[in-house]
Amino acid sequence: MDYEPVIGLEVHAELQTRSKMFCACPVVDLTTAEPNTAVCEVCAAMPGTLPVINERAVDYALRVALALECQIRPVSVFARKNYFYPDLPKGYQISQYELPLAQHGRLWIRTSQGERAVRVRRVHLEEDTGKLTHVQKDGQAYSLVDLNRAGVPLLEIVSEPDMHSVEEVRAYATGLRQLLRYLGVNSGDMEKGVIRFEANVSVRPKGSDRLGTRVEIKNLNSFRALEESVAYEIQRQIAVLEAGGQVEQQTLGWDEARRRTVPQRSKEEAHDYRYFPEPDLPPLQVDEDWLARVRAELPELPHARYRRMRAQYGLSDYEADLLTAEKAVADYFEAVAARAQAQGVPVKTVVNWVTGELFALLNRHGRAADDIPVPAEHLADLLALLHKGALNKQAAQKVLAAMFTQGGTPEALMDALGLRQVSDAGQIQAWVDEVLAAHPAEVQKYLAGKESVLNWLFGQVMRRARGRANPQVVRQALKDALERRRAEP
Ligand code: ADP
Ligand code: MG
Ligand code: ZN
Repeated sequence: MDYEPVIGLEVHAELQTRSKMFCACPVVDLTTAEPNTAVCEVCAAMPGTLPVINERAVDYALRVALALECQIRPVSVFARKNYFYPDLPKGYQISQYELPLAQHGRLWIRTSQGERAVRVRRVHLEEDTGKLTHVQKDGQAYSLVDLNRAGVPLLEIVSEPDMHSVEEVRAYATGLRQLLRYLGVNSGDMEKGVIRFEANVSVRPKGSDRLGTRVEIKNLNSFRALEESVAYEIQRQIAVLEAGGQVEQQTLGWDEARRRTVPQRSKEEAHDYRYFPEPDLPPLQVDEDWLARVRAELPELPHARYRRMRAQYGLSDYEADLLTAEKAVADYFEAVAARAQAQGVPVKTVVNWVTGELFALLNRHGRAADDIPVPAEHLADLLALLHKGALNKQAAQKVLAAMFTQGGTPEALMDALGLRQVSDAGQIQAWVDEVLAAHPAEVQKYLAGKESVLNWLFGQVMRRARGRANPQVVRQALKDALERRRAEP
């Protein structure tokens, strides 16, 4: 029988505001800050303290909700989700349950099957927990608690069970990360745990419209773990059904080392959490003015920008993907393109240099795509010089490398490096004459009909010019000189 996988994702993304969700503690980088240095009475849950909603965190959440085309609730309600764990000092997490901030949205994804929207069920605000580190020392096992993360604003984005392949899961997860970065609410540093995934996976006979029994895979902290665990679960469940068994609803973990899912506990139900409205916080009211303010600040969103730039610059799908993956790169490219085009440079040249030479340099120097050390004006001016023939391609590559590592304008570097292209006809003629005089046998071969010798002679002239000669002028001068020799008696 043929099976169809069905996947829904729950994504937890930190909102990287300056202060925490319900207190004034700073949001710090967990990987560098000393443990328990960003903690106060509120996020440590001392008796008698009260939470206060961080308005900026709501702003950020609204950005995401609007970008996901959600309906925003005018009134949403915080709720206590009760459970015990040592990283949760209050014994409950403040979250939203029955009345979330936003619902009924969608995210556009692109796969080899084309473009489609994945429906988003809900987007709600909550707070992150602390972090536990389990230690084995001197035959003792114990756990360390760091509360720096406790109370950091967290957004939970829950999709409908709308995805049907690992490729779609990947597109959704990377698309969401891209969106969060465009919106400036999350750094996207997966290795720092600022975005975490939970995948709900079931399979059903192809063509069926009933959902199969799902499992939930928790704590997926990388795209790789997400993809591999979903792929594994799909295969496992199909095997269970093929063998006549039934998939058990349960919560699983992903064993990175053995690359398989492992049962963690039987699935908890909502009533296990004893949700009830948070008595210490008022309902969250979002009026039209607030929404309008946030909407006005939204940047052009990734999917729209992809479509616009692809059409405007005649990009291939692949180029449009590369150039819009990061907002900083898209901004950079458009700044270079505007200035270069104003100087007559074809946009294709700009595309090739940004996605080719520039990306290669970023790679080689291990720099992030949003950390380009060459100002857009300098790259545009370099491409204009190339276009005018003031320097050739190899020389332009050298100038770009120098702009990248040491900085400076292309004009200045071109002269400092002695790379200004020679187009002077007299100088080029002299090089051509020298080469032809030095290689009479090759000249004879050419005149006898061996056309391919021309390329070899061209190479000799370029060598004599140390690469600086304008290739078009050289080629023409060489042909003319050879034809003159043919005409000679
Ligand atoms: P819970 O809070 O218990 O995890 P939800 O109803 O909020 O349950 O659903 C969580 C996620 O599971 C959603 O992303 C939803 O799309 C997905 N989901 C629900 N049913 C299935 C199913 N049968 N197969 C795959 N995913 C599912
Ligand atoms: Mg869940
Ligand atoms: Zn605090």
